[in-house]
Amino acid sequence: MQETRYDWLEDRWVLFAPNREQRPNEYICKENAPANKLAACPFCAGFEQSTPAPSLVLPLSELESTTILRRDEVNKNIIRTRSKWKVRVVPNKYPAVQTHAAATDHSQLAMLAGGLDSFSYQLEHQSDEGTRREADVMIASADLFRKEIPTGVHEVVIESPDHDQSLSGLSLSHVELVFQAYKMRLQHFRSKQEIKHAIIFKNYGPDAGASLSHSHSQLVGLGFVPSEVNRRNQRLLEYFEKHESCYHCQIAAEEERVGDRLICASEHFVVYAPFAGRFPFEFVIHPRTHRSHFDELIRSELKDLAGIVKSSLGALERTQPHLSYNMVLNTSPFSNSHSLAHHWNIQVLPRSAKIAGFELGTDCFINTVKPEHAAAVLRSAI
Ligand SMILES: [Zn+2]
Ligand SMILES: [Zn+2]
Repeated sequence: MQETRYDWLEDRWVLFAPNREQRPNEYICKENAPANKLAACPFCAGFEQSTPAPSLVLPLSELESTTILRRDEVNKNIIRTRSKWKVRVVPNKYPAVQTHAAATDHSQLAMLAGGLDSFSYQLEHQSDEGTRREADVMIASADLFRKEIPTGVHEVVIESPDHDQSLSGLSLSHVELVFQAYKMRLQHFRSKQEIKHAIIFKNYGPDAGASLSHSHSQLVGLGFVPSEVNRRNQRLLEYFEKHESCYHCQIAAEEERVGDRLICASEHFVVYAPFAGRFPFEFVIHPRTHRSHFDELIRSELKDLAGIVKSSLGALERTQPHLSYNMVLNTSPFSNSHSLAHHWNIQVLPRSAKIAGFELGTDCFINTVKPEHAAAVLRSAI
């Protein structure tokens, strides 16, 4: 069973999910791996039965029809498949976290998983002075080794029925549909009491942690707000209280005014390479309209976002071919009460540089490409 363990020193939760060891990895050639792994891509049109039942399907309109051509890697035949869908959202077959039937009350679970042993020990031995001291040790041990049964959801957004399409290569209306799916699933989980926070991310390429090349992203909803999200939001709140304005709105306005780290801009978005970005060619997609939550976007913003993502990701893929990257959608925790201070955004984090000993030991990053140069390269490719 999965569990989360708390690292007190780092103020950090770690999710343990041994089940994810079993997931197929297209990029790793294991002994005895099936030779037809691409022919059996579970995200391709025609293989819908390979995934759990979908939680959302965005179909083709009645006027559209799509025929997917795919090469069977075993027989080298071209397979023709008709698809009736454009975007499918399915539960992850190998979830990092999942809803446990009994896990409806996180605080009760915390006591059950982290404190039950020491709690029952105290009841049984409370009259005995010697064992009471032992019980104190047990309580200290429960504090040091705090663990919980996590509550959450883990879904896969299959962005296209076509194996060979990347997000930036999809049509504008298709990319809009992907973001529509994000919005609908976030709205759905926002209404669930047991889910406190959700993150959507995309791992593109093996160095970014992708296990299948078929274009997809993932949504993880958690029954707790991760410490790093809390820390960042606290910093944003401090900035807001001191300056009476949103940090992200200020930064984006200044980046657009100065311009040397600006990559592109549209009616609703500003894209720039952050001043102290950790990774070469890192950039931020910043929405001009101040909103704390992504799922509040209106249709015109979704459409504009599709265009700006297509052009900025396309520029990255053209100028840095074969580069892996993570795309992370940061949206506020569902019960956020500081919506004026928090501002959703998308980070694109290229992974040409490995996180090595120095970064792991200091949380200080070495970036070999200045953001001003990265912005100029990407700007010229748009
Ligand atoms: Zn596929
Ligand atoms: Zn703002």
